[in-house]
Amino acid sequence: MPEVDELRQEARRNTRGRFEQWAKNPTCPANTLSAVHNVRLDAAARAAGLTPSFGQSPFAIARGNRFEAGLFHDDAARLRSALERKRCLPDGSTGFLDLRLRMNGGTKIKSVDEALQKTEAWLRDLASGQTDVDSVVAAPMIRIPKGVILPEALLIIDVVTVRVDGGGIRLQVGEIKVFPDRGGHTDPHQLATARAQAGVYQHALVLAIDSLGLAEAIEISPEGLLVFTWPGSNSPAIRPNEDLTYQAIRAERGFQRLEEVAESLVHDDDWSADNPTLVQRVLESDTDYSEACLSFCDLAPRCHERAVLADDPIILGADVKRVLGDMTLSRALELLDGAEPADDREADLQRSLAES
Ligand code: SF4
Repeated sequence: MPEVDELRQEARRNTRGRFEQWAKNPTCPANTLSAVHNVRLDAAARAAGLTPSFGQSPFAIARGNRFEAGLFHDDAARLRSALERKRCLPDGSTGFLDLRLRMNGGTKIKSVDEALQKTEAWLRDLASGQTDVDSVVAAPMIRIPKGVILPEALLIIDVVTVRVDGGGIRLQVGEIKVFPDRGGHTDPHQLATARAQAGVYQHALVLAIDSLGLAEAIEISPEGLLVFTWPGSNSPAIRPNEDLTYQAIRAERGFQRLEEVAESLVHDDDWSADNPTLVQRVLESDTDYSEACLSFCDLAPRCHERAVLADDPIILGADVKRVLGDMTLSRALELLDGAEPADDREADLQRSLAES
């Protein structure tokens, strides 16, 4: 049927956008369903009586593109000097490999197939033991193995640094955002989003390298780097050594979940972005609210309100949630006020709350 074919084509073109949306909160079943079925979150929000507020402004997109283009201009000179200043690369590092598509500001790569092929060739070259490597690589494109998110999942990693350490190759993933870096006052939602994204890159790169059989030869750093901007300027501000262990585990769980959902639920007639049945299914799905939701999901006001009603510590952020786990915020406050602990766990928590 021509109409179904068109929808399928649209879904195929849109894969990256859907995948990236999913990657911002990979453990939320509603978000997963939305990504797998190509159901737009703004349509779901409208159906829930909310006013969608996302959708990228053309000015923000233009600024993001300008920032990225400036970083990679002249063999990534500006980015390289910022990376060297933060010791992400050694002084005097050399070599820039530009794997960006032409449509994304690159100069050589004409198609997705070419980008995939050049990325694989780059990884195989690195694994072959050569030591004269390009230390900055823009936009390598990897295909996520195992066929998650139909029809295929491609991921473009913003930037990868390459170091030769003790004879071995070590890669570090980097996420580029035009968010202003305000040191300890950087917006926690923006930070959480950037870290989650970098965690997905890291896990996806590990999977891709494993599937190519190159894991012995190439090491992926458990730490990533974030490239933000200096407030009010387009100069890069690097946040080095971001521990991505937790985010990568989260991404791994999300990948598994995405695969299960993709295998069990995608049918031939499920390609419409505003199919009311699918919109309803997204609205009825379980959720897993986190601060990252505030940066992309039009259902965030609803899920935040639910978290408030549930007395869930996630409303104070992932760090507080990690400490309190399933305990309600009210119970934590009672313990802080000196309530009698009901068990050893509460007693431990009360002690650590008092200490901190
Ligand atoms: S706002 Fe709600 S539906 Fe959207 S990703 Fe977060 S938890 Fe899931």
